[in-house]
This record gives sequence, structure tokens and C-alpha cells, in this order.
Amino acid sequence: MQSAKSFLASAEKVAFDIDHREKIKFNISRYDSAVEKGKSRYRDIELAKLRAARIKRKVVDNLPGLLLQFERSITKNGAKVYWAENAVDAVKIAAHFAREANAKTLVKSKSMITEEIELNDHLEKNGIESIETDLGEFIVQVAGEKPYHIVTPAMHKSKEDVAELFHKHFNTPVNSTPEEMTLFVRKYLRKKFLDADVGVNGANFLIAEEGAVAVTENEGNALLSASMPKLQIVIAGMEKILPSIDDLDLFWPLLAAHGTGQQITVYNNLFFGPRKKNEKDGPGKMIVILVDNGRTKLYDDSTIRESLACIRCGACLNGCPVYKNIGGYTYNTTYSGPIGAVITPHLKDFKEFKHLSFASTLCGKCVEVCPVKIPLTELLLYNRDLAGKMDLAPVKEKVALSASTFFLLHRKLLDLFGGNIKTVFMKIINDSVFGKKRKLRDFPKMSFTKQWTKNKD
Ligand code: SF4
Repeated sequence: MQSAKSFLASAEKVAFDIDHREKIKFNISRYDSAVEKGKSRYRDIELAKLRAARIKRKVVDNLPGLLLQFERSITKNGAKVYWAENAVDAVKIAAHFAREANAKTLVKSKSMITEEIELNDHLEKNGIESIETDLGEFIVQVAGEKPYHIVTPAMHKSKEDVAELFHKHFNTPVNSTPEEMTLFVRKYLRKKFLDADVGVNGANFLIAEEGAVAVTENEGNALLSASMPKLQIVIAGMEKILPSIDDLDLFWPLLAAHGTGQQITVYNNLFFGPRKKNEKDGPGKMIVILVDNGRTKLYDDSTIRESLACIRCGACLNGCPVYKNIGGYTYNTTYSGPIGAVITPHLKDFKEFKHLSFASTLCGKCVEVCPVKIPLTELLLYNRDLAGKMDLAPVKEKVALSASTFFLLHRKLLDLFGGNIKTVFMKIINDSVFGKKRKLRDFPKMSFTKQWTKNKD
């Protein structure tokens, strides 16, 4: 209940923050025009989405077998695979190998799963400095914040905000341009890449047949994080599987088109294990941590399982009218927007996070934009139904609904009250259950039944 309360309080505050709205509107409008261009490059985008959806559904249905196949093939390529049941296990495994490598500094490329397991906090407790190397992630790390969005972590900041932030932390000119700031970060991180003992990256896809980790990025930082330190740690959610390398010709452009509107992302890396004997560079050791952390729960529910097809492109967040108004931080979860509202109650505590599934207009925009055709609105309704079956509705909502049901089923009793009384009664219910911002229409002074009887005579 605490989460629901703070969600409502934050939603109300953020939705009326004009400055915030302007920034989000500006950034999403740029995204919208880029994505429109990205999609127009396809002769038949619907067919591409259909193919991707079919492949991902097959993956989800055969997930246990494909994961084992991935483990076998990447192990054959020289990597070691570890299975983490939850966030604590995942962090323990990563920290163990970082300590074993006597790591003082770790460079990390953008990865939502490391946010989910709160890797940075735990590494810092172990005396290891963890540096974000993606520009957006670097900005939020310097600001002491969490990513605002799963693809664009600093979407809520304007270039002026970032210039001010860097000025405060690094004494760069307060009026730095985006180019100047990028060059500054580039130089700053170069030294960190050289000093780092460990590199951590996530995975956009885990390739089962060939045993590879596919990472797509625009800055080259993931490639540097993975290849310069002597130890590479890959941390990936168990749903990231693709059957074969051949599937990338469909998924890489589709992810780029929906994530940023690009034809293809600038760097598309494939890591097939540690450096081989005849190779000059790359990490000497590579470990892959496959994280469950609630995904088995998603898998076990044959309806909600569909959400495991998500490729984290972020399109449903950008399309969602609720997300655009209340912003990423209001969700207070790693995964926000429609997909976050579907999976978070299952990944975390259903009772605590079920309210997210109610924070949707069910307009269907998220379903329309999803490249793997996840029926997000159906899954949100499924969660709502579950919450009802589990009797998790707040007491005042239950009382209000029972009273409404009672009166609606007893028409004569309802007609005893005039329009004004009904309006006041409904206002009390509405304000306490749905909030004061939702305006209801007034009841007519005379009910339909009374008007009918009067006019008939
Ligand atoms: S649910 Fe679909 S649109 Fe949303 S992030 Fe996942 S793949 Fe993208």
C-alpha cells in the first residue's frame, strides 16, 4: 500500500510539473520522428514484427532447453556460466570474481539487469569502484540517480541540466555544448577503461546455437568495457535467448528501429567467449551470469509468460500517455511504463506493486508499437483480474463498489434520492477512490425513470 500511496503522490506532483513535461515532450517528439523514419525503411514492418513475435514465442515456450543449449555452446567457447536464482546470488557471484581479480575499478556498459540487482551499490560496499560508461548512464550516475528510462536513462535532463551537473562535479564550463560534454566524458572514461580490472556488460540477446552474447550500442563503450579489462562479466536475464545467429538479421534492425529510430545501431558486438590462443586482444576470462530473479514466476504463468518475449526497446514507454505524464521515476521500479507495469508485480511483490497495472488508460498504443506484439493491455487486465481474485483492492474501493452495486441492483431505492444527493454521494466516492482531479458529471435532478413516467402521463 505504501508503494501505491507514493505512486499516486508522485504522479500528481510530476504530472503538473510543467518544466518536466516540456523536457519529456521534447525528447519523445524527437524519438517519434526518428522512429517514424526508422520504420519507413521497412517494406513491410508488420511482417517483420510478426516474424519476430513468432520467433520470440517459440523461444519463450522452449526456454529451459534453449538456455541449456546456450550454456553448452558458450562453455565450449571457453566462457563459464553461473546461474543466479535471485539478485543476491547474482551480485555475490559478480563480486566474488571481481575480488578474485583484485579489482579496484570496474567499467560497466548500459544494462538494466545490473540496475535490477543493484550491482553498483553492492560492488561499492566491496570497495570496488563501478563506473558507468554509457553517456546517459554516466550522467545519471554522476547525478546520483537511477535510469529514468530503459533505453534513454537521462531522458529527463536537458542539455543545460547536464552542463550544470558537469560544471558542479568536474568544473567544466557551465555553458558547455553537448559536443564539448561528450568529448570531456570520452577523455575522462578513456583512463578508466585503461585502469579497469573488470568489465561488466549485459546482453541484448544470448545466442543459443553458437554460444554468443550480442550487445548493441551507439558509443563503443560496451566493446571497450568488454575487451580491455582482463575479466569480462556478462550479466543477463534468462529471457534474452535467441535460437541462432541468423535471427540477428531480423532482431538487430528491429530493435534499432523501435529503440532509437536508427536503421541499425552503430556498434553490434558479438562476444564468443574469452580471448583464444591465437588472438591478440580481448579478456583472458569471461563469465556469464544467467539471472532468474523472478523470471521463473513469469514463465510459470502461461498468460503472463508472453512478457518474456520483450526485447526492451522502450517503444511502449514512449508511446504510453501515462508514462509521458507521470514520468519514469514515479513507477519507482527498474522497468517502468506498460511493460514494467506488467512484469514488476510478478518479479517483485504482487500485493505491493499491483497498483501499476491499474495505472493505464488501456488505449492500446503500447500494443500497437511493440515490435514483438506483446498484448500488453490484455496482460494489464489479467493482472487487474488477479488482484481482484486475490482480494487485494483497498478497503475504501471495496466499500464504494459494494455500495454502488447494491444501489444499482435496487432501482427503486436509488430513485428515492434526488439528483443533488446522488451527485454529492458520487463525489465523495470519486474523490476518495479515484482522486479529486477526476471530474464526474452531475446527475440530472430527476432520474430517467421519473422523467419517463412523467412524460408518459
Ligand atoms: S514490451 Fe514491446 S514495446 Fe515494450 S519494451 Fe518490450 S519489446 Fe519494446
